Amino acid sequence: MTPRTDEALVLRLTDYSETSQIVTLFTAKSGLVRLIAKGVRRSTKKRFAVGLDLLESGEVIYLPPRGDAQLGTLTEWVQRETFTGLRRELLRLHGALYAVELVAGLTEEGDPHPELFHALADTLRNLAGDEPAGPCLPTFQHDLLRAIGYAPRLRECVVCKRAVIPGQPVYFSAGAGGLLCRDCEPHHIEKRRVPSRLIETTPRTGDPSAWFELLDYHLTHIAGRRFKTAEQVAALLVRAHPRRR
Ligand SMILES: [Zn+2]
Repeated sequence: MTPRTDEALVLRLTDYSETSQIVTLFTAKSGLVRLIAKGVRRSTKKRFAVGLDLLESGEVIYLPPRGDAQLGTLTEWVQRETFTGLRRELLRLHGALYAVELVAGLTEEGDPHPELFHALADTLRNLAGDEPAGPCLPTFQHDLLRAIGYAPRLRECVVCKRAVIPGQPVYFSAGAGGLLCRDCEPHHIEKRRVPSRLIETTPRTGDPSAWFELLDYHLTHIAGRRFKTAEQVAALLVRAHPRRR
């Protein structure tokens, strides 16, 4: 079998045996890829012998799974970016862990999403950099929703298609796929009230904490479960961006 070469981000590392790990990568050309990495040194359990670490990017060479095998085999890893700036602030680190948890949970193995690969790499770079961390997170949530075909409708009511009127009560239903006006919301059980002020902004420009909560509500509904890192990120965001009441 011909080895494949790709750009990749390390989403997850799981010990498999004393000398090997299962590595979950998000690759530019093939999407999620799970590989067995043999030769982990016992003395440095957390690190793969060639230097693979969580939340870094690199160039990977691997053999795709053959026949019934679930896992491919990692043959080479050349580290590129380590995003060390993530470690200087809890919101940056947990925000990055949330972003990779979303990608691992909401994309399928071998389903390529090159635009999402670049969005995730940009998000890790921005979180590791000097820009405020807050807006990176709802921006990424929205980019991911678009990439997997679940972008919520945020300009008009999903049922009657009328534009949302500023100042009027507005609701969001994940099942319906976006906003509900006051006339249409009584017919939906699954919904939550949304501050109408928020809808006049975008995930990139509006209140990061309120946008995060709304989009995480949508993502939770799609996944059918709460993401492990979501609660911590929500709490850190509220602290960093106190709400105006
Ligand atoms: Zn309506």
